[in-house]
Amino acid sequence: MTKVFMTRPLPERVQEAARARYDLTVREITTPLTADEMRMALRDYDGVVPTLGDMFSAEVFADVPDPRCRVLANFGVGYNHIDVDAAKGAGIAVSNTPGAVTDATADTAMCLMLMSARRAGEGERLLRAGNWEGWHPTQLLGMHLSGKTVGIVGMGRIGQAIARRSHFGFGMDVAYHSRSEKDLDFRAKRKPSLVALAASVDVLVVAVPGGSETHHLIDAEVLSAMQPHAHLVNIARGNVVDEAALITALQSGSIAGAGLDVYEFEPQVPAALIAMENVTLLPHLGTAALEVREDMGMMTVTNLNAFFDGQPLRNAV
Ligand code: NAP
Repeated sequence: MTKVFMTRPLPERVQEAARARYDLTVREITTPLTADEMRMALRDYDGVVPTLGDMFSAEVFADVPDPRCRVLANFGVGYNHIDVDAAKGAGIAVSNTPGAVTDATADTAMCLMLMSARRAGEGERLLRAGNWEGWHPTQLLGMHLSGKTVGIVGMGRIGQAIARRSHFGFGMDVAYHSRSEKDLDFRAKRKPSLVALAASVDVLVVAVPGGSETHHLIDAEVLSAMQPHAHLVNIARGNVVDEAALITALQSGSIAGAGLDVYEFEPQVPAALIAMENVTLLPHLGTAALEVREDMGMMTVTNLNAFFDGQPLRNAV
């Protein structure tokens, strides 16, 4: 029987679907795989379902010269933790779960936009600390989103879903920076450069994939181009933003606030960010809803099934 290794417990429905066809081993702990576990996975299983934090680097593939593993069916759309070229060089196919994550992640971006602009975290902390003395007309005034401009960095599936919500739901103008011009059914202005985008928007939302190409794409230059009343939101990957430069920008007041779902050295979050009232910090909640995680998991099983039926992977990367 084909042996499959799931590197984290996925929702029960997904495990059942995988168990119906495969000799399934589920690793019951929730931390990323160690290098030893990755080598074991490549050596002892026909298929592996890895996820965020399982760092399948070129070295790991090089350590297992004749792997039993033929497919990595990644749970998640982001696969920057897998060296795809090295995997392919080792004869291992890779798939991901695009689409299943789009709406939930866009919703998390909207949540962060609102929380950051409207100072929701700060207000909640004030109340929970017993320091709320009652409503008054000038208390905790934030930035009104209606009529403002959102700038999307990476106008892909999630970027477009954020843009749609911003345009249709919040009456915002949309501008973006992407490698290619997009054909959209609503008005959105493509800016000639990332710095030009950063300089012209009230909220800058990061939605590009992680990886070496986008490492520190949001750097000190981009942050310093932003307006002092503007907010940065990152739902992409932590290392797309130069976190040290972001801390400097926030501390110096060169931007007004930030809403973050992901961190450069996740799960470590700098004390300097935690200390600032104008920063909203979520623990990578982008797709955290059971039905979304089930959809993602069922996509990994569909990819495994296609692969072991000798068909093309549905979501090859
Ligand atoms: P996608 O459809 O591939 O969109 C990515 C977009 O980024 C594309 O429009 C692409 O431009 C653009 N892009 C890529 N490299 C760029 C660069 N160097 N400069 C400017 N634009 C660039 O991916 P998606 O499904 O929207 O997902 C995006 C990312 O979100 C994932 O890779 C993942 O890391 C992250 N994510 C996070 C969570 C979470 O829990 N927080 C959940 C899901 C996904 P072109 O179209 O021009 O190629």
